[in-house]
Amino acid sequence: MRIAVFGGTFNPPHLGHMAAAEACIEALSLDRLILMPTRVPPHKDLPAGSATPEQRLEMCRIAAVQIPRCEVSDLELRREGLSYTADTVEELAAHYPGDTLWLVMGTDMLLSFDRWREPERILRYARLAVAARDENDRARIAEKAALLRETMGARIDVVENAALPVSSTQVREDLALTMVHPAVAGYIRANGLYLPALETLREAVKSRVSEKRFRHTLGCEMLAAELARRYGADEYIVRAAAILHDCTKSLDEKEQLTLAKKWDIIFDYNPKDAAALLHADTGAEAAKREFRMPEAVCDAIRTHTVGGPGELTTAQKILYVADLCEETRAYEGVEQLRALARTDLDAAFLAGLRRTIAFVRQQGRTPYHVTEEQLERLERKESNMAELTPKELMEEIVRIADSKKARDIVVMKVDGQTTLTDYFVIMTGTSTTHIRSLGDEIEEQLKKRLEILPHHREGVTSSWVLVDYTSVVVNIFQQEARELYALERLWGDGTRVDISNLMKED
Ligand code: ATP
Repeated sequence: MRIAVFGGTFNPPHLGHMAAAEACIEALSLDRLILMPTRVPPHKDLPAGSATPEQRLEMCRIAAVQIPRCEVSDLELRREGLSYTADTVEELAAHYPGDTLWLVMGTDMLLSFDRWREPERILRYARLAVAARDENDRARIAEKAALLRETMGARIDVVENAALPVSSTQVREDLALTMVHPAVAGYIRANGLYLPALETLREAVKSRVSEKRFRHTLGCEMLAAELARRYGADEYIVRAAAILHDCTKSLDEKEQLTLAKKWDIIFDYNPKDAAALLHADTGAEAAKREFRMPEAVCDAIRTHTVGGPGELTTAQKILYVADLCEETRAYEGVEQLRALARTDLDAAFLAGLRRTIAFVRQQGRTPYHVTEEQLERLERKESNMAELTPKELMEEIVRIADSKKARDIVVMKVDGQTTLTDYFVIMTGTSTTHIRSLGDEIEEQLKKRLEILPHHREGVTSSWVLVDYTSVVVNIFQQEARELYALERLWGDGTRVDISNLMKED
């Protein structure tokens, strides 16, 4: 058999690699060509957001499927320690005795070949197949090949390929992913690989919007980043969404509509409002198509003007609120909203929706139904909360905790001691995971069944989780921390509530 191995970082594999592989298969009448992603030594810096070895392997698989007689091997990725080509070709030669083996490479690799580790050992087991990366490389290749033949006795086949001058570095920087196979591009997008640097996004937006809007954009990014840190959202997602949220806003009504048509955007805005509202949809679509942004960024952009539909993520709420009250915004009440954003995101979101609706009405226009529905939903939630007495809420929490095997649940009624809350629910979990999952379960069940969200939650330490429902504060401890903080003693003046009727018999 005639077998070639084509090693590389393949971060990612691009059309240049694929064309070189096809040219070798054709020119050398190969029975198989094996793409072999190499291990990248830990000290070698890969660019931010780089693919993992598994992802590089997967992208090679996707590329290989497109090329007849091409396959993929994880031989080098599996090997412990440093990977040398000499070891690889020796191992392959042992695996395929009697077959002819080629090592495929582009111009740069041939030019540096004599500086590789043990080039003679490589040449003992393999012929070299060289593909030009650029048409201008031909003379250099011929010269180097002659030298290696003469000095090392190298057997070299220079392949007559149509050179495609592209590198993985260029691909990583090309937001449109034009130089990889569409299937590889799909994988890159789906996995959020090689995301552009925020500065690249800023530069792009700067050239598309007015100076004033760009100042608003940066203000929005700054506040959004602060809120992301405060409320535990992904800072890259939130910053990217803030930078891009108005990236199509400079387009006029006609241009918005043309873009919406081109990108199949469906909308039901009142025709009078379409021009003002569509920029959120076209912006989200541009973020995806032109800036290769992950869904979370596009979703935040899509909802930044109308605040819905449905339950929003923290990142979506942050962008909505930051857009309304970043530093360059000036209107009556903006400072209050900004302050609220910094203490209670949900309350600020609600206040933002109310303000927007009132503002639209003031202008004699009808608010968009999604915004009104969002406000109604949140108000319903609030009233659910108001309908449930603190005692009922406490009992619900105890039942959930008990069903999840919380130990030593103690409830203290402290409304006589403090104005902060009515009840402390204290319980013990057996591990960090257990205390976290108790917190998660309480949060999820209350949210799902009663649409009640905590005012605030913290993992105070790895052995203490606190979930604050205002009238009921839940403290989940590991045993040692519980003894250390001794809340029961601290609030000893409160009344201990008998909860035995709430607990399931073991
Ligand atoms: P980077 O830009 O990250 O350095 P790269 O594009 O050079 O990456 P590698 O994965 O390092 O890609 O290259 C693997 C092998 O493919 C090398 O032998 C290289 O010479 C060859 N090669 C890379 N690009 C091309 C191309 N456009 N045409 C032919 N061969 C190529």
